[in-house]
Amino acid sequence: MNSICPLCDSSKNKSVGRPKTNSISKNFIDNDYKVVQCLNCDVYYVSPRISFSEEQWSKLYNNEYFSSQSDWLIKKRAEELSQRFDKASKYLKGDQISFLDVGCGEGKSLIEGFKRDWEVTGIDIVDNRIEAAKTGNGNFIVGNFIDQKFPKNHFDFIYLDSVLEHVLNPKEYLLKIKEILKIGGVCYIGVPNEDSLFNIIRKIVFTLLGRNDFSVKIKPFDNPYHIIGFNEKSLKYILNELDLEIVYLRNFGRKFDFLSHTPNQRGYWIGLFFLLPIEFIGNMFNKDVYYELLISKKTN
Ligand SMILES: [Zn+2]
Repeated sequence: MNSICPLCDSSKNKSVGRPKTNSISKNFIDNDYKVVQCLNCDVYYVSPRISFSEEQWSKLYNNEYFSSQSDWLIKKRAEELSQRFDKASKYLKGDQISFLDVGCGEGKSLIEGFKRDWEVTGIDIVDNRIEAAKTGNGNFIVGNFIDQKFPKNHFDFIYLDSVLEHVLNPKEYLLKIKEILKIGGVCYIGVPNEDSLFNIIRKIVFTLLGRNDFSVKIKPFDNPYHIIGFNEKSLKYILNELDLEIVYLRNFGRKFDFLSHTPNQRGYWIGLFFLLPIEFIGNMFNKDVYYELLISKKTN
């Protein structure tokens, strides 16, 4: 059984290996799933299409999905977020900015919106907001983004960080974004780069360990449960297809996150001698681990 590409509907793909499972997901596996890459648009997805129930997904996500962060990392992430919003602000016009965060999680970006006096709306399938995100003057919706009736051409800034790689229907998400984004507004998209140097080296290590049949692309059945994987070609393909314009694109990594560990922890030394050099080299060749983009629309 073969499924069609979620971005371009092509049925031509190649297998890149079997997905790893964890102690919970292995009980839900009801098919001979493969991670495949579309031969037309280059996106990675799971074939056949995953048929887990909502309840099964929530069991996976409730299991240690949000890891705890050190104070250093919390501060660093807050700075990153603020810079990201400054960058997007340069493209925004007018005084009253209407802002939507799709998949707002703890609500850090909602707080960033409050600070800027924006009209703030957040949506997520569960309410995981921290207290400061609840107290601000904004709207919060619990539910599925696709099912919402938002006004058309309404939002100046839509934020979509670490969302597209988690949904079975990324094209529908982008179409909906296009419908509710104002002409002249921008949407931020953050996704992992599946063709990073880090993944290439993981593949070499897997092969040396005799585990060549496992996929290093996306992790549909193990934390962080990425079910769709992008690279530069597939991102550009789908945005072009939907007539969405890329106004800013950056390939980046988080090279210094090892500093969130102390030198008596293993993570510090792995980060310093292994991840840091890989990311530096990856960045030089546009093969770093994440992409971030700002996109806009020219027409409805
Ligand atoms: Zn495709």
